[in-house]
Amino acid sequence: QPEREVLTWELYGQGVRELAQAVADSGFVPDVVLGIARGGLIPAGSLAYAIDCKNLFTISVEFYTGVDSRLDVPVMLPPFLNAQDLDSAAVLVVDDVADTGKTLELVADFCAGHVREMRTAVLYEKPHSVIACDYAWRRTSRWINFPWSTEPPVTSRSGVLDA
Ligand code: 5GP
Repeated sequence: QPEREVLTWELYGQGVRELAQAVADSGFVPDVVLGIARGGLIPAGSLAYAIDCKNLFTISVEFYTGVDSRLDVPVMLPPFLNAQDLDSAAVLVVDDVADTGKTLELVADFCAGHVREMRTAVLYEKPHSVIACDYAWRRTSRWINFPWSTEPPVTSRSGVLDA
């Protein structure tokens, strides 16, 4: 079992500010932040605040079903975003990590032909990603434990069914 890359909530707070700073320093001012659910939603919301962008969209893509186990191809899930809603916008697409990069590639293809400009931001980029992200906070080839998905979902402690 290879060692994991562990992102704590505290380090996340620092990392997402540094990522936002890189976007600001580049001079890119997006009209829309588009977060890829679910992993990209927390970074997308944080970045939208940090760069002061009030238009926050989401798109749902499913690929991974567990640690290193995935579907053949990433698939978009409903409710579907209308690509026309992005017409002529400068869009910052945000995800937690570009691993194979295929999720970001799917979203990039979806946006193509509609947006004025599209850039991609991730906390982590892995070396074999098919997409070279415009902004990446860190690079690793290890499996990453994100603070929002490391612990199992909470379950009811009451032990009785609600009426
Ligand atoms: P990709 O399409 O780039 O292979 O991966 C897309 C999604 O898979 C990511 O947004 C993330 O939700 C999940 N994923 C890929 N690699 C990792 C990883 O190292 N750790 C975790 N927790 N999720 C990952």
